[in-house]
Amino acid sequence: MPSKNDEKRKGNKIKLKRLGLRAKTTKSGKTEKIDNNNKKNTKRKKIGWRVFKILLFTMLGLGVIGTGVVIGVLTGIIDKTENVDLAQLQSQKLTSFIYDTEEKEIAALFSEENRINISYEKTPKYLIDAVVSIEDERFWKHNGVDIKRTGAAIVTYIFNGGNSSFGGSTITQQLIKNSTGDKEADWTRKIREWYRAISLEKKLEKEDILESYLNTIYLGAGASGIEVASHTYFNKSVTEVNLAEAATLAAVIQLPETYNPYRGEEAAKKLKKRKEIVLAKMLELKKINKEEYEEALKYEIKYEKGKIATGTTYTYFVDAVIESVAADLMEKQNVSKEMALQMLYGNGYKIYTTQVPSVQKSIDEAFSNKSWFYNDKAGTFMQAGMVIIDNSNGNVVGLSGGAGEKETDRSFNRATQAIRQPGSTFKPISAYGPAFERGISYPGMGIDDSQLTVGKWTPRNYYGYFNGYVSARSAINLSMNIPAVRTLQSVGVDYGYEFAKKLGISTLNKNDKTLSLALGGLNRGVTVLDMTGAYSVFANNGIYLEPRLYTKVVDPNGKEILSNKESAQRVMKDTAAYLITDCLKTVVTTGTATSTRLGGGMETAGKTGNTNDDKDQWFAGYSPYYTAVVWNGYDQPKSINRPYPYTSMRVWTDVMKKVHSSLAAKGFTRPSGIVSATVCTHSGKIPTEACKLYGGVIKTEIFGSGTVPTDTCDVHKMATICKVTGKIANEHCLETEEKAYITRDTQPKIKPRDWNRMIITDKCTLHSKSSAEEDNGNVNPYN
Ligand SMILES: [Zn+2]
Ligand SMILES: [Zn+2]
Repeated sequence: MPSKNDEKRKGNKIKLKRLGLRAKTTKSGKTEKIDNNNKKNTKRKKIGWRVFKILLFTMLGLGVIGTGVVIGVLTGIIDKTENVDLAQLQSQKLTSFIYDTEEKEIAALFSEENRINISYEKTPKYLIDAVVSIEDERFWKHNGVDIKRTGAAIVTYIFNGGNSSFGGSTITQQLIKNSTGDKEADWTRKIREWYRAISLEKKLEKEDILESYLNTIYLGAGASGIEVASHTYFNKSVTEVNLAEAATLAAVIQLPETYNPYRGEEAAKKLKKRKEIVLAKMLELKKINKEEYEEALKYEIKYEKGKIATGTTYTYFVDAVIESVAADLMEKQNVSKEMALQMLYGNGYKIYTTQVPSVQKSIDEAFSNKSWFYNDKAGTFMQAGMVIIDNSNGNVVGLSGGAGEKETDRSFNRATQAIRQPGSTFKPISAYGPAFERGISYPGMGIDDSQLTVGKWTPRNYYGYFNGYVSARSAINLSMNIPAVRTLQSVGVDYGYEFAKKLGISTLNKNDKTLSLALGGLNRGVTVLDMTGAYSVFANNGIYLEPRLYTKVVDPNGKEILSNKESAQRVMKDTAAYLITDCLKTVVTTGTATSTRLGGGMETAGKTGNTNDDKDQWFAGYSPYYTAVVWNGYDQPKSINRPYPYTSMRVWTDVMKKVHSSLAAKGFTRPSGIVSATVCTHSGKIPTEACKLYGGVIKTEIFGSGTVPTDTCDVHKMATICKVTGKIANEHCLETEEKAYITRDTQPKIKPRDWNRMIITDKCTLHSKSSAEEDNGNVNPYN
């Protein structure tokens, strides 16, 4: 059984180890508490005296007079010197890593001060020897300050009249200089540095000092820390470097940018020379033998920038993860965006994302297809954005924010940041969805595709005419505009607006409370990500799973900083959602999106979307497994005028076919509340004899239970027609027939296509009482 003291010591050690530091164990076995706020005066005096002694002897040796003055000044400086803060040594940044669902690293996040720590134990012996040999050969013996070198430095300083760089720093001093940010350039800083170096040596083992030093030191070419430097120069971990490479790394320390071999041949030559000096010094100090020395000299160094060092551009997915985690850190830790990003780039987090590598690969392949993405005649590159969500959990399994070369990190993301007009893809979200939800409309509902003017607004159809009476299903199928507007009118703009917001459309504002909401004619627009989330509600029978890009963020101690749990919320009835899905299935089987069928028995539902002048092209679709939305267009909106089917449909189909290739065929789940009934699809009501006679309008359709109509059709009317004149018959007409017509309350200027079947109001005037008597029934209508 370990004693209580042992346990406590262990606890302390673990704590310190987390900080990357070992506590110095005193002879009594107690772990010395490292607490900078509890400085003991006695100790301070003792250390002060040591520095002082060094100086005193130096001064005396130099024959400087007036030591009394010096002592006074020194005491003053030391009294004002904060002891070195160990926490400051730890302010070194730690790289964060981002993982996909297979826990494979997909990105490393680091700031310019990026460092990846490597423990002393893992650092190759010859690297340590190389660094100590060249930088501080008496490191293992001195107490923080090398008296021999310091004395020499002071002499130089004095003889140069204070114009010397005051070199002669030990590794301990260099570590302190790099960590404290004490930038005062005068000689008092040097004294504070000595004092701090000696203090630090009393608290930490030499190995810890060296470890911190190697992990914080700047080594040129943007690399801080020996591990990052090793990746920067040799594209491998420092644990894998050979003696020649180790000596090269040690050589860089003196003048990191002068020796940076990527600066050119001259710098590389200088570095080679310095490396030879390092090796010679190692030989002199018997750290290596003649053979090793010769071999290392002969070895030809090859410089190669590794992945971690070249600052490879993050993918759009990683960019989106950074934004999402930063936003959650801001909210949950109540910090500014700058702070959140600093935490992300420097706290050594492990971020577990929702990216499924195979899905992402399919997206990336499509987005690099040069026959879909190229410069047009005007030299403009057409862009696109895509998001795929796993319906079962709301995970964003793949995402792309743009085609072509991605040049910078956190660049404009067309999947999450571009706000574009959604066009007709918005109809199920803002018009049919809310109307189906309230039972005001359903697939068999009849709507008049005829001229409509609201105030100064007269919406048109892309096909340039009006169909007349159609069902909601047909209107969705062929993306008719007027029926969508009438549908939103029937459910109310406010309801439609709130409904779209419930489905996760976050970019709406109050100015969108107009009827053009039905057509996706928005003030600002929508993001691909929001659209994917909204469509997944239909796929999920009315449940909104907030799209998530990551599941958790863990700090270096294994503590969960953020937990991004699934959040499911019912935002519409399962039946209403299913009715939408059923209509969107028709779009894929017979409507505007037949090219997107996934085939192989995999049910597919989707909706196309185009905006005025073809500036934005969309396809939003889903299977029982995944929901995906693709947008394509130019960054500076201009007409696309591309042949049908357009890029977003091609990309959607290509990617989704690959994503589903290994999945079992599946249909959408039909909720128990779905019922069937026969309906007149011009009125959406119970069919009458008139509907039957009219022909082609009676259909068995599906409804949410409780929404099956109870009124009878009021669109279709019967009339008795004089067979001779084709007008409404009177009692004198001899040959008559019953015919069915449509009726409407309005008299549109532009006649819809079914106008020829409008009810007739003109009465037969040919036949009358007198005519019947005169002609005795032998009427010639042409006379
Ligand atoms: Zn009818
Ligand atoms: Zn007649």
